[in-house]
Amino acid sequence: MQTINTYNFKGKKALIRVDFNVPLNENFEITDDTRIVAAIPTIKKILAEGGSAIIMSHFGRPKDGPNPKYSMKHLVGHFSKLLGQEVKLAPDCIGAEVQAMAAELKPGEVLLLENLRFHKEEEKGDETFAGELAKLGDCWVNDAFGTAHRAHASTAVMAKFFPNDKMFGYLVESEVESLDKVVSKPVRPMTAIMGGAKVSTKITIIENMLNKVDNLILGGGMTFTFVKANGGNIGNSLVEDDFLEMALNIQKIAKEKGVNLVMATDVVAADAFSEEANTQVVPANAIPEGWMGLDAGPESIAKFKEVIENSGTILWNGPVGVFEMDKFAVGTKAVGAAIVNATKKGAFSLVGGGDSVAAVNKFGIADGVSYISTAGGAMLETLEGKVLPGIAAVRGE
Ligand code: AMP
Repeated sequence: MQTINTYNFKGKKALIRVDFNVPLNENFEITDDTRIVAAIPTIKKILAEGGSAIIMSHFGRPKDGPNPKYSMKHLVGHFSKLLGQEVKLAPDCIGAEVQAMAAELKPGEVLLLENLRFHKEEEKGDETFAGELAKLGDCWVNDAFGTAHRAHASTAVMAKFFPNDKMFGYLVESEVESLDKVVSKPVRPMTAIMGGAKVSTKITIIENMLNKVDNLILGGGMTFTFVKANGGNIGNSLVEDDFLEMALNIQKIAKEKGVNLVMATDVVAADAFSEEANTQVVPANAIPEGWMGLDAGPESIAKFKEVIENSGTILWNGPVGVFEMDKFAVGTKAVGAAIVNATKKGAFSLVGGGDSVAAVNKFGIADGVSYISTAGGAMLETLEGKVLPGIAAVRGE
């Protein structure tokens, strides 16, 4: 398989699929350029090797063909500034005029194609459309992990036009390698920490993780569905009554597979969902009427910490309390600190999923974990055990 480090880009026109789907304000100014910044190293590498770059991305959700609101014209100036060189903007992403612009590109030059989703064929994974895109370049570089779970024309279908000239960009490569360390070849013991509000949204990941982990820490709001299923009193805590059976089943599978299932035994209960609430530490299965569990208690935190700090691989998805309120952030903060300690001792730690990434940033510990995945759906589908079309296409699977 080709990689961006082994491929010879000299004199080649590289079609690079990036994710430039950035947020804009009402004046069409970029409010967060993280995704564009993240794509720069791959582009610079190719240009430095004597290649030229044809950049393609989706942007927003245009419904019926071209819509000036979602034009790449809003991004080209800032992209050019970040790259430190001129970027030409194509009027479309396929067609004779664009082909002529691509053909004229000289080594070191950059062309940004117009929004791929101005053509509905992109999301349909249309092969003819993919072929039109493929005409523009000599090789295909997939550097958009955020769309790797979609079998779209530019993210997967294009691969067949470049049987020997397809590869991951740096972003996708590092995301794939990091996820591999967790999903395929974890150093043991492997621990997954699953938190957040609901068990229903994480059920597929939990089920898949039960096949892989030595320890599964379940925290946050989902705790109470388990506690209730086992006959405990949960007061006004969050619960999903339709998932009681499912919770018991998870416990059963964990037992059968010898997975150490770790859940809160004590919680910080509050008399209101508020920073001003009165609180008390109570057993997780004896929450008084009218009170709700909003954070892990000290005994639970100590248990979580011990398991985490003795792990070789750690996956963290979801907070173990209502960390947005300082009063209920203690458990989540302690989990973060334990992960940092484990990482210092040599463990590989991956944090993924919106809210745990927010927690890591809130507590300022981003530098203390091995890898932070911001890819959302694509990462979650990998953890669920699915094969991503954009990854499989490059690997030729
Ligand atoms: P999710 O999107 O499912 O990962 O859920 C994240 C949300 O779960 C965060 O906003 C937390 O505030 C919330 N959460 C965590 N623990 C609890 C809890 N014990 N009760 C209610 N919400 C919680």
